[in-house]
Amino acid sequence: MDIPRIFTISESEHRIHNPFTAEKYATLGRVLRMKSGTKILDLGSGSGEMLCTWAHDHGITGTGIDMSPLFTAQAIQRAEELGVSERVQFIHNDATGYVAEDKCDVAACIGATWVAGGFAGTAALLAQSLKPGGIMLIGEPYWRQLPASGEIAQACGVSSLADFLTLPGLVSAFDNLGYDVVEMVLADQEGWDRYEAAKWLTMRRWLEANPDDDFAAEVRAELTLSAKRHVTYTREYFGWGVFALIAR
Ligand code: SAH
Repeated sequence: MDIPRIFTISESEHRIHNPFTAEKYATLGRVLRMKSGTKILDLGSGSGEMLCTWAHDHGITGTGIDMSPLFTAQAIQRAEELGVSERVQFIHNDATGYVAEDKCDVAACIGATWVAGGFAGTAALLAQSLKPGGIMLIGEPYWRQLPASGEIAQACGVSSLADFLTLPGLVSAFDNLGYDVVEMVLADQEGWDRYEAAKWLTMRRWLEANPDDDFAAEVRAELTLSAKRHVTYTREYFGWGVFALIAR
């Protein structure tokens, strides 16, 4: 069981697989006012940076589920590096439909809401793992600037304008689902650069090391396109944030 290979190549050096920086995760960990022992579930935990640093800085305990064997192995290694292996565990599995047996204080899905068909389905899924009054964390893109046409939306890599909401639209949607938005931390363009631009050097180095790999043509095509696509579209049109929700 694995995710498409382009991600495990282009993001193999990433600690954070979204436009958040280490500083943004630190801010989010601080503003949530978590007590030591706070129990967290993280669906699509990637390389585990959120749980590992929060275990280190705030004494949380956590479980992360991720479909990538590589990212899961990196998460386990990161926990060892930070000396928090006793507090966090990482499981290689499909998070689709995953519900924790022991209910959590915080249930998160940061940049992987497709595991439940979008943010609304993800909220419904995470709710099943939460103690009453628990905090849900959802990391989701939104339109920072609305594309003037469907063609521009497609150039941004989405099938239509309707795939995402604006920031006011997204916050209203959480409200309509019956949640109080109790905190939010938003990524910025610098964070998008860290996420996207960091892939370019990784892809370039991978191509140098694997010129005869069957996958080389695909990586080459992606590398040739991605900087232009990023500065023309992603960087300008996409916002991204983590929203903290408590059911009303
Ligand atoms: N939350 C992490 C990773 C976000 S990227 C971070 O902040 O860095 C999206 C992650 O979802 C990737 O790690 C990918 O491997 C994982 N993923 C994709 N589909 C999945 C699924 N069905 N079940 C579990 N994880 C999945």
